[in-house]
Amino acid sequence: MERQPIFSSGGAHYGIANPGYVPAAEGAAAMFAPPVAASQGPSAPPASMFDNMPGYEGTVVGGEGGFLPPPMPAYPVPQPHPGPEQPHWNIPSISEDTARDAFVLYASSKCCYSSSPAKDGVITAMEAFNTYRYRLETFTESRSTEWRHEPYNGQPVDAYSQQPPGPWDIPAQTPTFFVDGKQNIKVPYTSSVKPCHSCVGIGRKPCKHCAGAGNKVCWVCNGSGYRHGSDQCHHCNGRGRENCNFCHGQGSSQCEECKGKQQLLVYINLTVKWTNNSDAYVVEQSSGLKVENLSKVSGKELFRDTQYMVYPVMGFPDPAVMQASQRFVTDHQGKYCKTSRILQQRQTIELIPVTKVTYTWKGNSHLYFVYGNEFKVNADNYPATCCCTIM
Ligand SMILES: [Zn+2]
Ligand SMILES: [Zn+2]
Ligand SMILES: [Zn+2]
Repeated sequence: MERQPIFSSGGAHYGIANPGYVPAAEGAAAMFAPPVAASQGPSAPPASMFDNMPGYEGTVVGGEGGFLPPPMPAYPVPQPHPGPEQPHWNIPSISEDTARDAFVLYASSKCCYSSSPAKDGVITAMEAFNTYRYRLETFTESRSTEWRHEPYNGQPVDAYSQQPPGPWDIPAQTPTFFVDGKQNIKVPYTSSVKPCHSCVGIGRKPCKHCAGAGNKVCWVCNGSGYRHGSDQCHHCNGRGRENCNFCHGQGSSQCEECKGKQQLLVYINLTVKWTNNSDAYVVEQSSGLKVENLSKVSGKELFRDTQYMVYPVMGFPDPAVMQASQRFVTDHQGKYCKTSRILQQRQTIELIPVTKVTYTWKGNSHLYFVYGNEFKVNADNYPATCCCTIM
């Protein structure tokens, strides 16, 4: 029976398999479907190892399994509500002392800068260019399945005792909202025991270092048994061969796949993944400070709205913020509904303080910016960037 990877997003599909090393033990080999082609890795399990599980027909082996789209909700989706009404807010302004202190700190953090302009410069103007940052976070859950196997140590075996529950019906742990996380779950009623495909149920494989012989050509005499004419080789006592160190002369070693257990527990693994998808928009300000600088600082939070699904921000003084909100909400809800289940959304508006400071030093006018709650400073044209030459 042919299996098609319905939800495959990459990873190997084991319709064709190579059971790898096949020893002469015909009795054990007879339990397996004959090898088809040698295109897969040496430990690729044969397709016959995986039973047909109702509801999981698209499940493949290896890598991240394909994502499973969530089912249509059985109950009406709650409608988003407009966020809380905004009170009036004041633009906080920083004092000259704060601006100067931040500047001195900035200059001293640069090993070669002279602190003289920061300390002795005279502030002539301070202008506020405060701006807004809108951020939308969409917290999603996605689910994917894949066939897995592990050495059999007596784990419960439950395949076919009941119909497996659907991938979205299996309870997962309660996630912490807006924090990325992951959980692996064995899908109930899919576990069965199969002989190990890699060693054909023997538990051991021929040693790679001696090709199963247990010994190899003596490296001292190169197999002749003699050194310097007729002197017997002391390393191999004239045998011409020495014991293999890797298998201690046994010619075989424990099978890595089943760890010598001869059998594997084969099951469908469900991966549940929680992802916080975040997008931010900063309103352009005309101070001359590049917007990229603002991604590293925080602002004063003016608005916060957390719901199952948020409604775009309304009635905010800056239309650019409302447009960004409209765009992000439509984009997120369209994009993330397809591959995952949206669990929660959060939107915030921050006011990021930006102050442009003009000052004079040694008769020339210069400027710098103080921005963010952290009072970060940007001074691209600091007048004394090398203290060694300016003095
Ligand atoms: Zn030798
Ligand atoms: Zn060996
Ligand atoms: Zn094995």
